[in-house]
Amino acid sequence: MRNFLNMLIVAVSAFLIVGCESVPFTGRSQLMLTSQSEEAQLGEQAWKEVLSQNRVSGNSTYNIALKRVGANLAKAANKSDYKWEFLVFENTEPNAFCLPGGKVGVYSGLFQYTANDAELSSVVGHEIGHAIARHGGERMSHGTIQEVGAQAVATTLNGKSAGTIQAAMVAYSAGTNLGVMLPYSRTHEYEADKLGLVYMAKAGYNPNAAITFWQKFGQLSQTGTVGEFFSTHPMSEKRIGEMKAYLPTALDMYNTAPNKKNLGESLK
Ligand SMILES: [Zn+2]
Repeated sequence: MRNFLNMLIVAVSAFLIVGCESVPFTGRSQLMLTSQSEEAQLGEQAWKEVLSQNRVSGNSTYNIALKRVGANLAKAANKSDYKWEFLVFENTEPNAFCLPGGKVGVYSGLFQYTANDAELSSVVGHEIGHAIARHGGERMSHGTIQEVGAQAVATTLNGKSAGTIQAAMVAYSAGTNLGVMLPYSRTHEYEADKLGLVYMAKAGYNPNAAITFWQKFGQLSQTGTVGEFFSTHPMSEKRIGEMKAYLPTALDMYNTAPNKKNLGESLK
């Protein structure tokens, strides 16, 4: 009986260790039933899907800007297991996503709203925040997106069902082409906002630019011109307020960043 109890305790603790993670910087604990390597593999395959369904933008200014900002953010994020890639895709919607494992896509439509590198870093940093905090894995663990997977046709693509890959894309909001985009929960949005401030600050971009960018973006949304991204990223006074409350922490990180660029290069 004692042996059985010991085994039970070991089994339960093993489940707790596997099943629970904590988010960097915010310390929030989260249910996690997927592994980082599984997520990265799904990310790789979803990226192949994205590449086959989207046209890479021929605008060299946009691509160079994204690679410049992306390299600085990647360095700041310090994720040795990530294989970063940054590409601009031809699409008039202002949108961006980061898949688990570090594949980042930005739609060309976003650049009409970003005045400089710092503003671009606030959006890309936010998306990287969703990925590093493993919000997609958390969604999959909670079964939020099971239905999407179940609806998809289960044909096999590189050993993973198309449904699983679609689920991964939806989990990381890379699913516009699938006609499915789930809004992140408020908890995830607020957390990605904070992590975005952290990574942009550590990358040497002035985190004040995130506040002005999201405020500007929020106002634009009222004119109905920012479409789907805004519908999945609703901006409220409260959200801006939370970012402002975190700003002193982010400014401390910015002030000790090795290579401060303030707003970086102009994109206008
Ligand atoms: Zn978000």
